[in-house]
Amino acid sequence: MEKEEKKFSSSEPISMSQSDLGFAKKIGEVAGTDLNSCLTCMSCSGGCPMYPYMDYGPHGIMRLAVLGLKQEALTSTTIWRCVGCHTCAAVCPMAINIAGVMDYLREECLSENLPIGDKPIFQFHKAFLTSVRFHGRASKVELMGLHKLFTIGSGPKAWMQDAILGTKMILMHKLHLLPSRLMSSGISQVRKIVTGAWRDR
Ligand code: SF4
Ligand code: SF4
Repeated sequence: MEKEEKKFSSSEPISMSQSDLGFAKKIGEVAGTDLNSCLTCMSCSGGCPMYPYMDYGPHGIMRLAVLGLKQEALTSTTIWRCVGCHTCAAVCPMAINIAGVMDYLREECLSENLPIGDKPIFQFHKAFLTSVRFHGRASKVELMGLHKLFTIGSGPKAWMQDAILGTKMILMHKLHLLPSRLMSSGISQVRKIVTGAWRDR
């Protein structure tokens, strides 16, 4: 993955004409956190392992949200390159649930049918959530298979690159062929959360 130049260091002015000032409040209600308390101290970005590969970084996404720049936030690479490690939340002086905000923004990007900031990462995300919807939890072998299926257009080299490693892991019992499933009541609860807004993308 290539390192990204930060969009906030661009000399181009950011247009506020499309600003949605209720955006931060709406995110906060869903993610259970108060974005308006953000101090823009950048501690989150300082600790984020993916910051070099993001266009805004977590502090930038918080600022875009508070400014109501919804389109910018939803089409950023940052929301897809966040790996949900919660390092940012651990160092945030205002205890903002930043990974929860990223989750919400990814779902919002898909439900509004906006361009996806990083399509290959989305293909992995889609494979993961498809497996979670089937079983209530992810099956590693199925995740690998679905990811290969969704990226079939990437060519035979990409398609085969994990085949030997995957086979070795199965033979060493590191991967289990049969998925473990939640009980059906648990699966229906999971399906209420993982709605499947991404299925047609
Ligand atoms: S660490 Fe918290 S308060 Fe500081 S910029 Fe990040 S989100 Fe805002
Ligand atoms: S949860 Fe996402 S934004 Fe926060 S530190 Fe980890 S990768 Fe960075």
